[in-house]
Amino acid sequence: MISDVAVVIFGGVGFAIAKDCHGRTISTPYGDVTIYITRMSGSDVAIIPRHANVDEHMPPHMINYRANVWAVRELGAKRIISTNSVGTMKDHSIGSFVLLDDFVDLTKNRTSTFFDTETVHVDMVEPYCPEIKGCLADSLERKGIDYSEGTYVCTEGPRFETRAEIAMMKQFGDVVGMTGVPEVILAKELELCYASICTVTNYACGLGNGKLKLTVDEVVDTLRGAQGALLGVVSDAISNLPDDRKCDCRDATVGARV
Ligand SMILES: [Zn+2]
Repeated sequence: MISDVAVVIFGGVGFAIAKDCHGRTISTPYGDVTIYITRMSGSDVAIIPRHANVDEHMPPHMINYRANVWAVRELGAKRIISTNSVGTMKDHSIGSFVLLDDFVDLTKNRTSTFFDTETVHVDMVEPYCPEIKGCLADSLERKGIDYSEGTYVCTEGPRFETRAEIAMMKQFGDVVGMTGVPEVILAKELELCYASICTVTNYACGLGNGKLKLTVDEVVDTLRGAQGALLGVVSDAISNLPDDRKCDCRDATVGARV
């Protein structure tokens, strides 16, 4: 353990790291991870920029998810707050926030487990930590910020979805993104608490009021606009987390082994 970090933030696209924040490397069995320690609400918080380094942007299907989640364990932290950008398949307003309460995994080529030499079926009835989610919801409400809860559909990417795919996915999902899985599963396997706050950056393919093409610029512009509010909510939620975990995330692998 190299610090007193209790919470790690997984930063999504456009998640800004303060200039005075120096990166350090954490070694894991799956590769090295660069983390940034900062102060937030009076405590040390680590940030792992999911899309990696300043000079490159790691595409979603190439992110080393296992290394990132293992790094949290190496830090001795127990909680992850994930920030994700999503397209809406319902009528969320652009720039609003969605707290995830469930997910559908439509990824294709990602290793979504740490358990390759023993059979462990972790329960997924409550994928996202109710304690962290509750603190995020309280913070959003206190600040009067527009948000909802919903189901995340994770696609492989890096391409955006087709209209036919969105027509199918909106039957069972609220928002769509490319990075939330397998993080949430891997965190559960390590009995870490994991919750996600998503920024709605765009309408999913074919749902944008006659506008057909989806561009990266509109996604990034929306994220920049929402960044201040997002940081405020996350920081506020961290300060309200109880010291000791009471949720079931702690025992996710109990009774899961064959
Ligand atoms: Zn939890």
